[in-house]
Amino acid sequence: MIDEVAAHARPYVGRGQVADYIPALERVRADRFGIAVADIHGEVYGAGDWEVPFSVQSISKTFSLALVMSQGHGSPGGPGGSAGYHEDEIWRRVGREPSGTPFNSLVQLEAENGIPRNPFINAGALVVTDRLLTLTGDASTALLHFLREESGNPDLAFDQAVADSEAEHGDRNAALAHFMASFGNLENPVPRVIEHYFWQCSVEMSCRDLAVAGGFLARHGLRADGSRLLEAREAKRINAVMLTCGTYDAAGEFAYRVGLPAKSGVGGGIVAVVPGRCTLCVWSPGLDARGNSVAGAAALDHFTTLTGWSVF
Ligand code: GLU
Repeated sequence: MIDEVAAHARPYVGRGQVADYIPALERVRADRFGIAVADIHGEVYGAGDWEVPFSVQSISKTFSLALVMSQGHGSPGGPGGSAGYHEDEIWRRVGREPSGTPFNSLVQLEAENGIPRNPFINAGALVVTDRLLTLTGDASTALLHFLREESGNPDLAFDQAVADSEAEHGDRNAALAHFMASFGNLENPVPRVIEHYFWQCSVEMSCRDLAVAGGFLARHGLRADGSRLLEAREAKRINAVMLTCGTYDAAGEFAYRVGLPAKSGVGGGIVAVVPGRCTLCVWSPGLDARGNSVAGAAALDHFTTLTGWSVF
């Protein structure tokens, strides 16, 4: 079935525009396509370039949010956990409504007093990274360790060229962070927050790595070994925010076509969750006008049509 989904997506591969806001992403070949499905029992299936690492970019936002939320009950990512942290704290500093504006927009922040609409637009992700920095002392390293643990791949690493390039072209993200700092919505100095945010965007992972790492979202918060990362209600909430806000300014269209919680990144990856069954990751670098992978969305659309597995 995965092969059939891949064959369906094939004509869409190469369509759209490879992200070119930094040179390190522009160089990626447009004809790549991979898909991986990890079921809740640990079986992984894949097709195409499913073991080729790519830049996770905004997909990291899902994992940093999960890591922050997990800190209330023992810490996989930081020294000593964080006694006294409550799940709701993060939601005082970031909302959970679709923004209706581009992922890096400044406009809404002014009208809404420095509180970003959701954790998956850049402003919201900067707040989450800021929180992770406070909780762990080293947000990007905590995230990398978390991703290594959840994916079972100890070789995951940052892409230095991407991180440097993000920083070099990071004026917009710096502006968002300074703006929120002026409203008192950052706990750490702006340069540190954006540095960790850029590192987190630069992690390289394959479809296989991401599908396996996102398994806890399909297992209602349980890791592969059965231990609990998140409460079931927390996993539910992350999935809900993915569904409503995870695919840039096209979450409505994505719910219409695919009907699954999903998070996309400008590297061309999309992670999607079928709660209780499996986590998928698709990758193809050509993006549509909203920033979602054209072939990736076509593959997920076909997958839910074939299986009937959507949340609707
Ligand atoms: N590093 C990108 C930025 O902050 C993330 C873009 C994305 O994947 O949405 O601009």
